[in-house]
Amino acid sequence: EQDVTEYRKSLSIRVSGFDVPRPIKTFEDCGFSLQLMNAITKQGYEKPTPIQCQAFPIVLSGRDIIGIAKTGSGKTAAFVLPMIVHIMDQPELAKEEGPIGVICAPTRELAHQIYLESKKFAKPYGIRVSAIYGGMSKLEQFKELKSGCEIVIATPGRLIDMIKMKALTMLRATYLVLDEADRMFDLGFEPQIRSIVGQIRPDRQTSLFSATMPRKVEKLAREILTDPVRVTVGEVGM
Ligand code: ADP
Ligand code: MG
Repeated sequence: EQDVTEYRKSLSIRVSGFDVPRPIKTFEDCGFSLQLMNAITKQGYEKPTPIQCQAFPIVLSGRDIIGIAKTGSGKTAAFVLPMIVHIMDQPELAKEEGPIGVICAPTRELAHQIYLESKKFAKPYGIRVSAIYGGMSKLEQFKELKSGCEIVIATPGRLIDMIKMKALTMLRATYLVLDEADRMFDLGFEPQIRSIVGQIRPDRQTSLFSATMPRKVEKLAREILTDPVRVTVGEVGM
């Protein structure tokens, strides 16, 4: 345990919550499949970033997480890689409809970035990824969603539009990510986030990532996550 404390300290990681899994040191420690390891190597990722070292074992164990680390620290892969594992763990993949993984991001640019990162790791498994955000034709998006996907990455407003249009259902969704939660709040998306969360089964796994953690974001996180582990890397803005 002393080792773990020292190791966290060396990476500027602080944690709170009960039974926090110990941080890993290498991608190999995560037990990722050979296919996933190959995709990671192809990306040129040699070792996990500090947020990934602590987030991977938490999320892979099925726990909810509040992850706070500055921009550029590798938060995307911290939730995308465990999402691939989660999806591959689902029995009878094709039986029900709608995405298994749902990622909400504040802007179309961010949603697109997450889409690109997800595609790289999903592709070797034939996992289908759809991105839906404003600025794209609703009809095209409707058709794409109707053709099926395992992962959807969306801005909150457009996701609600698509649910209302019955382009997708949330029946199969068990892995929810709220990325850049602070910016979603700043852009006034709190009601939309609450609406989306309310449509996803309560036994889902939920992750919330943010660069800063103002009190109102912390409050929302505590309402919609179940026994989360809170992880911060470095200094945190409020
Ligand atoms: P954040 O969401 O924290 O702002 P990103 O997920 O966008 O950060 O990652 C920032 C950059 O770091 C991206 O270009 C990403 O591909 C890269 N990256 C992520 N994880 C690793 C890693 N383990 N090793 C090297 N580069 C990484
Ligand atoms: Mg990010």
